[in-house]
Amino acid sequence: MEDLNPFHIAQTQYARAARYIRASDGLLENLRRPERTIRIDFPVKMDDGTIQVFTGYRVQHNNARGPFKGGVRYHPGVTEDEVKALASWMTWKTAVMDIPFGGAKGGVVCDPKRLSTEEKRAITRRYVSQLGSAIGPMIDIPAPDVYTDATTMAWIFDTYDMTHKGQNNLPVVTGKPLELGGSHGRATATARGCIFCVEEAIARGLVEGVRSLAGARVVVQGFGNAGAFAARFAHRAGAKVIAASDSSGAVLAPAGLDPEQLMAHKKQKGSVVGFPGSSVLGGAEVLELECDVLIPAALENQITAANAERVRAKLVAEAANGPTTPAADEVLHRRGIPVIPDILANGGGVTVSYYEWVQNIQDEQWDEERVEGKLRKKMVNAFHAVFDIATERKLEPRTAAYVLALDRVTRVTELRGIWP
Ligand code: NAD
Repeated sequence: MEDLNPFHIAQTQYARAARYIRASDGLLENLRRPERTIRIDFPVKMDDGTIQVFTGYRVQHNNARGPFKGGVRYHPGVTEDEVKALASWMTWKTAVMDIPFGGAKGGVVCDPKRLSTEEKRAITRRYVSQLGSAIGPMIDIPAPDVYTDATTMAWIFDTYDMTHKGQNNLPVVTGKPLELGGSHGRATATARGCIFCVEEAIARGLVEGVRSLAGARVVVQGFGNAGAFAARFAHRAGAKVIAASDSSGAVLAPAGLDPEQLMAHKKQKGSVVGFPGSSVLGGAEVLELECDVLIPAALENQITAANAERVRAKLVAEAANGPTTPAADEVLHRRGIPVIPDILANGGGVTVSYYEWVQNIQDEQWDEERVEGKLRKKMVNAFHAVFDIATERKLEPRTAAYVLALDRVTRVTELRGIWP
């Protein structure tokens, strides 16, 4: 049986790259583990008057290159090891993107689909107040992730601000609403960055027989923030989005779906399923459709040893974190299917989070063109830095991205020295 524990997977990925890094064994051992793991069990008064106990985590993996940074996830499947994996991926992602942050992640074990807005707000406020000063504008900066959004970020800001008066607290969290210190382009940044990477991959000749995104067939698994906007940008570039899925099922339309209409349908009906002009597909089947670009944008462990042989995409662009297991990586590599790894492909989100943080500190608001122009430059640089290493050292792209990140993090750690 394949080991699907996300933290074990993160450590396997790490080990594949660490052997190429010239740093002491002790330092490499240190970077394998998170610096700090916070677990809190807290009570929340529910709408019906009962009290329920929730478990939340904040894992701070590394801050050698800058404050800890990473999203907060609300999902019934959240575990300590999942949050540890996601925190470590943030360290490598901020390093690949070359932005001055470290890596962290948070999560609360809960089912947001069964919670009222009031209950979600109470969970958020209690979680943030118990984290206390473990987060902060120069310490650790949360952001949205699965089933959290700009509204959740507004509650995080407000709670922190109420308990830390007398200073500019806007930079304590990113992905905020525009009216409350958010940045233009943040909501769409993960998807934008992912599509920039796909375009670079095509331009670099990595996608067999495909010369442009125009006309390319794209499949999106997970029609949420990252996935739906990725579909939108692919569609606007002339691609055909032939299938999309969410937690309720999948839809197929070989002539192409209109992502804007599909978003409106999902907003109204709660799922992509039943979209007019589409046929129904099993959730697992989307990963096995013949297409040019497959964008997993849901959760971890979707392309595994069990289905990697059946993937018929020419390129996999990981908008999600951890969608491909190490065993699946080997299969895809052997089959010549390039993977744009998560720590590169979805780095646009944290990059624009960084721009939001800078704007908050400088008390500015940049326009969308400025944000997007800066993001494009960052993504293109990071993409070619990773694929240059992959080509020169004959490494699969994920290991190449880790090598780049590990080089940067170990170098900074050596420059700083170990204190005391
Ligand atoms: P989201 O909550 O907006 O969307 C998640 C989507 O995935 C939903 O449509 C949900 O229905 C769908 N989904 C859940 N389980 C599924 C399943 N088994 N099969 C198919 N679809 C399923 O979350 P998001 O922010 O878009 O995050 C998605 C992924 O992108 C996560 O891995 C997240 O860590 C990653 N990511 C997000 C950001 C960001 O800025 N939001 C940044 C980097 C990475």
